[in-house]
Amino acid sequence: MKELSRSAQIGDIRQQNYSTIMRELMRSGPTARTDLAAAIGMSTGSVTRLTGALARAGLVTELTEPAQRGMGRPKVPVAIDESTYGVVGVHFGLHRVNTCLIDLRGQLVAELHTTERTTRLEPLVRGAARSVRKLIDGNGLTVLGVGASTGGWVDSSAGRVRSQPILGWQDAPLAKALGEATGLSVLVDSQVRALALAEHWFGAATEVDNFIHLFVGNVIGAGFVFNGTPYRGGRAAAGGLDHLPVAERSGSACACGSRRCFAMAAGDIEVAARARAAGLIGDDQEIYDLFAMAGSGHTRARRLLRERARVVGAATATLIDLLDPELVVLGGGISSPVDDVETVREVAQAKLPADRFGDATALIRPSAFGPYALGIAAGAIMLDSVYRSPEAFVPALTAHAAM
Ligand SMILES: [Zn+2]
Repeated sequence: MKELSRSAQIGDIRQQNYSTIMRELMRSGPTARTDLAAAIGMSTGSVTRLTGALARAGLVTELTEPAQRGMGRPKVPVAIDESTYGVVGVHFGLHRVNTCLIDLRGQLVAELHTTERTTRLEPLVRGAARSVRKLIDGNGLTVLGVGASTGGWVDSSAGRVRSQPILGWQDAPLAKALGEATGLSVLVDSQVRALALAEHWFGAATEVDNFIHLFVGNVIGAGFVFNGTPYRGGRAAAGGLDHLPVAERSGSACACGSRRCFAMAAGDIEVAARARAAGLIGDDQEIYDLFAMAGSGHTRARRLLRERARVVGAATATLIDLLDPELVVLGGGISSPVDDVETVREVAQAKLPADRFGDATALIRPSAFGPYALGIAAGAIMLDSVYRSPEAFVPALTAHAAM
């Protein structure tokens, strides 16, 4: 028994060391072994042994070009291998499913998006599984697993979507259903936490360990990363902001009965409804059409979006006051139009003392991702697990272990 627990301990330490090396390479890019050793506080000998095993397993690669020239032996850098493994992300939104294949550095390799009339779980999962298969067949990467996300309350440890009001899902076994349909291992989480993970691993928040991803789209929510780890709360429901009281009165009442809820004042669905009522967009048009109008300089479209950004700015100030993050990343509809991010900064800055707020441009940033943010971010759920325990996903790594 004693021997067994000792070898288990050694396995844990080895896994942790692999994880540390891969995280450092993800953050810093190609790095010479000596510099890598210095950065993570390990001996060059250990780093050489561990990166050797990671390279044989296809997780890191040795680049042929020396990182720098100078005295002594050339430093051949190691880097995350982008051409052997990948993960797939699937995001289930209203009328839209986005499936993205990303490599181990989080770079988009290929994507598919489908328009869906149904909101039922089973047909959506079957369709998503077909997309996953197409992406895998069309590319040379070995897929280690699938991350899936949607809005609302998603319990990652149970693999279930507890409540997704926009799709009408209640206690939906998403991980199990998608796992059976694809034959791959599947992890699920809420879309805001997925976005926060993606920003942290390969987006706008790679240098900080305490930040908030504030998503303002069809749903409004926050993904929290504290001390480098996503905060999920006691029931995996942390980050809901739909009913945060705001100063602005909304035209229609929220499901909770109030006319002063954040989602009613600032969500994409409500802003689009306001634009329709004002005759700015037609009945068959969406918020994206309003963004396009604002982008081409339409004054009333811009004013409508600026009003929304002011609501978001006030809420951002509340979050900063409450949690003192190093950074707030804005995602969803709020991050795309021309000057909305700037408006959020101005309003938040006006509400908070300068010594706590500092530089608004550094503290509040737009998301690093473009139109496929939600699909890519879903992939980050799986990528996060691969980086935390590479041996669990790449058995070849255990076989190649050099202890
Ligand atoms: Zn409400």
